[in-house]
Amino acid sequence: MSDNPSYKLGQFIDIYCRYCRLNLDAVVASMNPDGTLAKVQCRTCMHFQDFKPPADLQEKHRKLVEKAMKIAEKHTRGPAAAEAKAKKDAAAAKTSAADLRPEAVMRRLWDEATANVSPMKMKVYDKHRSYHKDDVITHKVHGLGVVVRDDVEYSMTVLFRDQVVELDCDQPRED
Ligand SMILES: [Zn+2]
Repeated sequence: MSDNPSYKLGQFIDIYCRYCRLNLDAVVASMNPDGTLAKVQCRTCMHFQDFKPPADLQEKHRKLVEKAMKIAEKHTRGPAAAEAKAKKDAAAAKTSAADLRPEAVMRRLWDEATANVSPMKMKVYDKHRSYHKDDVITHKVHGLGVVVRDDVEYSMTVLFRDQVVELDCDQPRED
């Protein structure tokens, strides 16, 4: 039992806040019968939530890039593969070798996803709305983006022109 850190109600600890999406200070709000953490309260946004240890943000970003790469691979094997291959061959003739850096692959994926979207089908980003994979959204800071992952509760992964961003969605209205 001695290697089990003991927590006290009201104690300050480091957490990953799922609302702020940052490593922050929190207060222990409740504990399980075995002495492990149950609920904590973020000191920044005051939301109560299950305890989650601080996240390694670089590791998180690496995983996002990995995810985008997998999605990009899937796209190149899809029904549009022949067309994409023709385009790629033409591009390869120009640049001698395909650019396989994650940034370049993500840019190509973004180009393809946003190239033929009618403005009527674009959805204005609003954290209270629901979105689905492949939806194209417009964001006032990041611009045009495509939803690449929507299977996490209250959040989604969006590929913008220069970066992958996790955004809130399905958020309850508080007012
Ligand atoms: Zn918070």
